Amino acid sequence: MLEIIPIPALTGTYDNYIWILHDGVHAIVVDPGDATPVLAYLQAHRLDLLAILVTHRHGDHINGIPKLREVYNTRVYGPRSEMIPTVTHQIGEGDHIEIDELGLRFDIIHVPGHLPEHIAYIGNGMLFCGDILFGCGCGKMFVGTPAEFHYSLQRLAALPDDTKVYCAHEYTESNIRFALLCEPENIALQQRQRDTRALRRQDLPTLPSTITLEKATNPFMRCAEPEIVAKVMRRLDLAAPPMDEIAVFTALRAWRDDC
Ligand SMILES: [Zn+2]
Repeated sequence: MLEIIPIPALTGTYDNYIWILHDGVHAIVVDPGDATPVLAYLQAHRLDLLAILVTHRHGDHINGIPKLREVYNTRVYGPRSEMIPTVTHQIGEGDHIEIDELGLRFDIIHVPGHLPEHIAYIGNGMLFCGDILFGCGCGKMFVGTPAEFHYSLQRLAALPDDTKVYCAHEYTESNIRFALLCEPENIALQQRQRDTRALRRQDLPTLPSTITLEKATNPFMRCAEPEIVAKVMRRLDLAAPPMDEIAVFTALRAWRDDC
């Protein structure tokens, strides 16, 4: 049976999760920013690493690749970018990959906004979304436009509701605090805060979430909600509602950067 395990990494600085998928024999990992905890897990469970999946070039997602490849002669899937020389198999929008040993198939979509090359892996009811989507939030807009970021999130929002969302960071609790500034009356969001606090008190991950939960609580996926639009109007001192959802997204992203 397939197991999907979050390995905490760079804890206290970036609070990454490196996701390992394995069946007790073979494994793949997503965005290994640090090799040490991954090697420890693989060796403790006597797993053979078949492949590494990469979403984008940030060091906290790729720095573990060289050391892992010293031990395992594994293929590395990742975006078509010269800035990730450790990728052995470049992939992009419309491609798919198959991990036959684990019975997995992922479709690749291009999700710019955080960084231009960012891709996401979708398959088997799972989404590995790197830093484009977080629990109740989204990544920083390092090199991108609000329009493309918003479009990327809209594409993810269109996935089946029960798709499990495997984000790369444990940021849910602070994201919920911001979301409640935007939408204090949202009952699903209030419930999510209670659930999240209970998990974190036990030092448990708040992920994966689901597309349903993100659509119900994540302000960056709710740019048309009247309460959010009203908050943005007040914050920007606007007399009339913003022209479109992208303007709301832009204001939310800037507001989040200030928090
Ligand atoms: Zn990143």
